[in-house]
Amino acid sequence: PPIIVWFRDDLRLSDHPALHAAATSGAPVLGLHVLDDSVGRPPGAATRWWLAQSLRALGTAIAARGGSLVLRRGPAARVIPELARESGARAVYWNGIAQAPHQAVESQLEATLAKLGVDSQTFPGDLLVPPSAIRTKEGRGLRVFTPFWRRVLSLGDPAKPLPAPKQLRPAPKIAGDVLESWRLEPGKPDWAGGLRETWTPGEASAQERLRDFLRHTAGAYVGDRDRPDREGTSGLSPHLRFGELSARQIWHAARFAAEEDPALGPGIEKFLSELGWREFCRHLLHDHPDLGSENLQANFDGFPWRRDVRALAAWQRGRTGYPIVDAGLRELWHTGVMHNRVRMVVASFLVKHLLIDWREGEAWFWDTLVDADAGSNPANWQWVAGCGADAAPYFRVFNPQLQGERFDPDGTYVRRWVPELKEMPAKLIHRPWQATPIELASAGITLGKTYPHPIIDHARGRERALAAYAKIRKG
Ligand code: FAD
Repeated sequence: PPIIVWFRDDLRLSDHPALHAAATSGAPVLGLHVLDDSVGRPPGAATRWWLAQSLRALGTAIAARGGSLVLRRGPAARVIPELARESGARAVYWNGIAQAPHQAVESQLEATLAKLGVDSQTFPGDLLVPPSAIRTKEGRGLRVFTPFWRRVLSLGDPAKPLPAPKQLRPAPKIAGDVLESWRLEPGKPDWAGGLRETWTPGEASAQERLRDFLRHTAGAYVGDRDRPDREGTSGLSPHLRFGELSARQIWHAARFAAEEDPALGPGIEKFLSELGWREFCRHLLHDHPDLGSENLQANFDGFPWRRDVRALAAWQRGRTGYPIVDAGLRELWHTGVMHNRVRMVVASFLVKHLLIDWREGEAWFWDTLVDADAGSNPANWQWVAGCGADAAPYFRVFNPQLQGERFDPDGTYVRRWVPELKEMPAKLIHRPWQATPIELASAGITLGKTYPHPIIDHARGRERALAAYAKIRKG
């Protein structure tokens, strides 16, 4: 009888502990993915698009090894026992997800399968270290990144990645849903052109990206990672989000590259610590399942957020009049990602200059990011807003003009995403409102027409933010 391998956020064949165990047992393997919108947060539009591509790639890779991937829709705790009965499976294997709603389904499933006499096994999921291994004396998770990461490093290397099975024993044919019937991809209008241009989802492309990064980019990572005008980072986040490669694989490949070429050392250490932030966000989500909706610091509950539908729409569309902010939001709309430095700037602009609730920005990112992650997205938003774990002090209000001048000094990034400013000289491109009428005219810009006036003056926005924060600090 076959073993069902339940694929979730681990759409890969290599370093997949559940698949590895099923394949090495010698039993026929039946791959399964369940579309279950009842568990956790319903995915946004961009991640639905990615999921469709990634499932296609996974299905092809499994078929090439002789196996099959069945698609079913509905609550996993019901759908999986049904499939077990239909296929006569003797066991169901999966990699655990350390998030409360997923763990609840896993327990429910285990109980139902046990009643049917079907074995179930949970294998290590995609964390470098389980949350239980990093606790304070009182048994709580750590809320500050640096000691957290020090503890992770002190535990030594994570397990070595497992190889992909070369061959899978085919299971008897079982009918499933046709992927297209799930309507994960846009119909009309088709807004996914930019995503298709930018990305190739799937394990093969994830591994190629990792290799490219280690070979060409890691050496300059320390200096280049903050520069949106350069290809200075790995671009691995959506691949990681869907588990097309594991954090363990990245860890070992990166450490190996640094051993081969010691000059890569500092870049690799920094890069791994960014992977550490991902881990930190996941541990936070494990300890705070409502991270996406509740302030980690309760004194923020009375924060005087403004409701401003027009300002929010201007921000979403990249029409704030601050070039670096607008470039970021347009990059996001087109590619499904935004450079990390710019994510911080646009998030700070929304919650501080516009005084709009971080949850509004988080929800927009959730819908438009291909790497939208239930841990990293809200954790970073809360961090920027000042209500999160290890948050920056509230009085740190980014000046979007200075951020632009520092991290995009020639305006290359702005020119790419805000083409109406293309002809602006570098010294003015981050502050078009200070250009003279002649300078504007020779760059072909009419402020208020071809490009907006700043939606709010920086100094005024900053003061208003500080006054709002002072109120909750007192109260
Ligand atoms: P690299 O610099 O190559 O980093 C390698 C990996 O480390 C990334 O792929 C990512 O998995 C992880 N990483 C890097 N920075 C962070 C960070 N600050 N927090 C958590 N993990 C990190 N990242 C997401 O994966 N999903 C999100 O939904 C998300 N939302 C964010 C929202 C805001 C407001 C901010 C400021 C940051 C957010 N990030 C999120 C973190 C970060 O911006 C992206 O991970 C990064 O830009 C991805 O690009 P990269 O893979 O080239 O990064």
